[in-house]
Amino acid sequence: TQTGRPSYRIASIPADGIGPEVIEAGVEVLKKLASSLNTFDLTFENFDWSSDYYKKHGRYLPDDALTTLKKFDAILFGAVGAPDVPDHISLWGLRLAICQPLQQYANVRPTKVFRGTQSPLRNCNSGELDWVIIRENSEGEYAGHGGISHAGQPWECATEVSIFTRHSVERIMRFAFQIAADRPRKLLTVVTKSNAQRNGMVLWDKIAAEIAEEFPDVTVDKMLVDAMTTRMVLKPETLDTIVATNLHADILSDLAAALAGSIGIAPTSNLDPTRKNPSMFEPIHGSAFDITGMGIANPVATFWTATEMLLWLGEREAGNLLLDIVETVCENGIVTKDLGGTANTKEVTAAVCAEIEKRL
Ligand code: ATP
Ligand code: MG
Repeated sequence: TQTGRPSYRIASIPADGIGPEVIEAGVEVLKKLASSLNTFDLTFENFDWSSDYYKKHGRYLPDDALTTLKKFDAILFGAVGAPDVPDHISLWGLRLAICQPLQQYANVRPTKVFRGTQSPLRNCNSGELDWVIIRENSEGEYAGHGGISHAGQPWECATEVSIFTRHSVERIMRFAFQIAADRPRKLLTVVTKSNAQRNGMVLWDKIAAEIAEEFPDVTVDKMLVDAMTTRMVLKPETLDTIVATNLHADILSDLAAALAGSIGIAPTSNLDPTRKNPSMFEPIHGSAFDITGMGIANPVATFWTATEMLLWLGEREAGNLLLDIVETVCENGIVTKDLGGTANTKEVTAAVCAEIEKRL
């Protein structure tokens, strides 16, 4: 390490299914990019926290996991979920056990149609679908409040309580307005279900209107979540930045990924905008056990994830260059089966590394 040049420590947690395959590809590309640019240093430390770890130790994370992670500049995460572990155990045991205590309250999910790829929507080309979905990542419908009473009785009853606090709604709203303000169109669509859910969603709308006053340049547009799904399909070009609750944005972002061509493209960032804690970057897709070990997982979502991580770390040139290179490789037709191609994970990775070599 030369003095004065930035150096970033990355914790990588490949975890389950295709997670290790795509993280290996992502780390290879990041190392190639860093050594070719030669303007900053990246070091990686690997952690084997996963469903296999859980089956061996009875828990996903060791006691000192959070203390360990706090020493890093960013976390690169693969995917969690195994066929023989209930999904709510794996999700709460690993992903949410990191996101919640590290206060990664803003989940950012960019989606676009890449040059050279095809949206399932007719007449939707690259440039017409270019969105950022901001998901509230700390409370709402996934706050974990509720319980089960009268278990096993015919009158068994479960409650799943949504929590919306002014504190959390204000901070996610301000964050979303800022993202919208920094994008060329300066358009923010606020998604709710305030016709049917008359407490939390009404507070959400009220706070959106308050924060809007701080951002006079941003055009605000309000949508009910059900109508939003049709608009995403029928008029994708009318949307830009979107803010929604934990549950709504979870669903809308899967739809968004499919509309962009494949779930194998899109990244997601779990950010602590205060920067007190490291943020966590992961592909949007899951562990995909149906294709695990076959070497055909699309690594593009992880490459875009790497871009988002570089941008967050302040390496704008490197981040933007990597995304452009990935789009060029897609345009050249070197894509996996989910995007209609025949290349495997290693071939796409090699093509990206070759393009880095060519440009730098
Ligand atoms: P999880 O429970 O972890 O979310 P899942 O199998 O329910 O896993 P995904 O992993 O998101 O859900 O997979 C949904 C579908 O998309 C699967 O058919 C999978 O093979 C496919 N898929 C997901 N990620 C990729 C990828 N990177 N490349 C190619 N196909 C993928
Ligand atoms: Mg899934």
